Amino acid sequence: MGTDVERELRREAAVLIETDLMGLPVLVVGPPGLTASTVRRYERAGAVVSVVTAPGGVTGEACARARLGVLVGPASTWATARAALAGRCPVVNEPVPDAPRGRVVLVGAGPGGLELMTLAGIRALADADVVLTDRLAEVGDVAALAPGAEVVDVGKRPGHHAVPQDEIERLMVERALAGSTVVRLKGGDPYVFGRGGEEVAAAVQAGLPVTVLPGVSSAVGVPGSAGIPVTHRGVSHTFTVVSGHVPLEPEQARALAGLGGTVVLLMGMHNLVPLTTALVRGGLAVDTPAAVVERGFSPDQRSIVGTLGTLPDLVSRARASSPSVIVVGEVVRQSAVWAARRVVAPPADKIVLDVVA
Ligand code: SAH
Repeated sequence: MGTDVERELRREAAVLIETDLMGLPVLVVGPPGLTASTVRRYERAGAVVSVVTAPGGVTGEACARARLGVLVGPASTWATARAALAGRCPVVNEPVPDAPRGRVVLVGAGPGGLELMTLAGIRALADADVVLTDRLAEVGDVAALAPGAEVVDVGKRPGHHAVPQDEIERLMVERALAGSTVVRLKGGDPYVFGRGGEEVAAAVQAGLPVTVLPGVSSAVGVPGSAGIPVTHRGVSHTFTVVSGHVPLEPEQARALAGLGGTVVLLMGMHNLVPLTTALVRGGLAVDTPAAVVERGFSPDQRSIVGTLGTLPDLVSRARASSPSVIVVGEVVRQSAVWAARRVVAPPADKIVLDVVA
């Protein structure tokens, strides 16, 4: 008999604090989402409750004022917070509430097309209750891969605004705390310029189990699809993946040039001129081979090859844009595109262009 709400109230009443805690400063420590029912119980008993949602946050005024510490959640929370509260006030532990617990799975979708996703990622989608997907996660019909799941495209919204990162994390945590298996589907690999680290931290902070399933990163896969190996015996034994989102600092450009290996730039198309200029100023020869591989793994993939000196002009003539991977280094010579390049403008040895259909 009774509704879920009534049952929940009875469950809470059974553990209601007997003592009158009127006015007592109580500090509740625990992951967000797990502390709510504890806070409610202490407040009903009259306590003045402060909440800290990270064990490391047990410092400052709230802690100094506390006359009772209540530690909610996993034992790891207790250890850190108990040490911080030691000697200041009595401390009690609350077991993790037996509310439904979900989980978060970060899945790398690869650089394009379902075939480049892992089997583990496809299985995770099939098990998902909620899928938060991205603009660059181009695996086709996500709803068909996750039957019955709620699919939220956080990469775009009416008006073409992406959902802000903190809102994505909030949604992910909220759904998982409510008991859902939440798959966060991300282009390429979740940890390569994908803010995967922040999302994992948000889930861990909320006390949720998290799994990260890797994906083929465009940083390696897209140059490879154009026949450009990021390393090649005797040519380059190192490759560095750099964000081109903001121009390179002179010091950074000097360091990259000094490595003598391959430089792979993501998110750099709008900065192509400052990026290539910085690398030349940093010490790379102006005739260092360089390529742009546009829309990797799509039917209209193109490669544009030239040198650090010529690439920006070639790219603007080809009207190439994002998403593209920029590759700088001698490895570019290994590709068939380089071998087949044709001269599009004088001086003949400087400007080369090939557009692969
Ligand atoms: N996590 C992703 C990268 C995200 S940053 C990964 O591991 O691949 C986004 C950038 O990745 C784009 O600006 C572009 O530089 C690159 N990118 C992603 N997919 C691409 C594709 N199919 N073709 C070319 N570049 C791609």
